[in-house]
Amino acid sequence: TEPLLEIDDLHVHFETEEGTVEALDGVSITVGRDEVVGVIGESGCGKSVTALSTMGLLQSPPAKIERGSIRYDGQDLLELSKSELNEIRGDDITMIYQDPMSSLNPVLTIGKQIIEPLLAHRDISKSEARTEAKRMLEAVGLADAERLLAEYPEALSGGMRQRVVIAMALITEPDLLIADEPTTALDVTIQAQIVDLLRDLREEFGMSVLFISHDLPVISEIADRMAVMYAGNVVETCAMRELFEAPLHPYTRKLAESIPKVGEVADRLPTIEGTVPELIDPPQGCRFASRCPQYIGDVCDSHDPELAAPDTAATTNHRVACHLYDESVPSSPPWHSRDE
Ligand code: SF4
Ligand code: MG
Repeated sequence: TEPLLEIDDLHVHFETEEGTVEALDGVSITVGRDEVVGVIGESGCGKSVTALSTMGLLQSPPAKIERGSIRYDGQDLLELSKSELNEIRGDDITMIYQDPMSSLNPVLTIGKQIIEPLLAHRDISKSEARTEAKRMLEAVGLADAERLLAEYPEALSGGMRQRVVIAMALITEPDLLIADEPTTALDVTIQAQIVDLLRDLREEFGMSVLFISHDLPVISEIADRMAVMYAGNVVETCAMRELFEAPLHPYTRKLAESIPKVGEVADRLPTIEGTVPELIDPPQGCRFASRCPQYIGDVCDSHDPELAAPDTAATTNHRVACHLYDESVPSSPPWHSRDE
């Protein structure tokens, strides 16, 4: 499909008292039209920074976009003026967050909040906006929309609030929805309902979605393609199916293994020895090297692997950042693992 969003070689740093945090180290993610791309990784890997950069919502300072581009529908969002960006944001591109209350104003009625984006971006009357709002509340599965318009957020359950937030995000019929851990704050049954809802709405409205999560079972319910992030890098991009059937990066393999098989009770979080490196003065080479079970040797410590298509990949869209797949790295003497 034709790309709608193309994040290319994005580098973002944060200035802190302890030093410069190299939060994004060349992140590239493409979202096609009507495609759902899942971004998976542990907390602190740069998923949210990527989302906030795309929305133009990074606080600067301390954040600084060092280089890269974020093209939306062909134009680089990083080059736009504030007012140009405001026209796109909240209209063509919208975002939902983990905690619905962060998007809702406790002292305003649901009605006021839900029609606000419409009044800001469309030339329509209040009563037309109200009609739209009711239609959208029904579309997100909320009954009795008329009554709901007069309610305040605190009267609603967490699941209902997130549905309201989704209605607010979709009321302008955006082409791109960015969902940052939209189900994490909800309990498990509600999580499943919200993911089902987003999947249905995506079909109904024909939009692209960048779906960010640390939860592989959740993300696998909705994504067509995946970007796997680790310590500020995209280490692999592939079709959803390939992530389970043919994962290439050692980190992705660990993630895929961590999913409990049917009938098996297991911890959802992957158990990988070691810890994520500090992103202040990060390692020069592969940022996964200290934890990698397939560590090759010096090349892993000295060279940052590029995201590239390996010769062995079944599809051209499968990309991995690992020296195991780099033809120019000699394959003998045999690769050794750290514990040999
Ligand atoms: Fe492991 Fe080396 Fe590949 Fe990094 S580049 S994931 S350390 S094999
Ligand atoms: Mg890198």
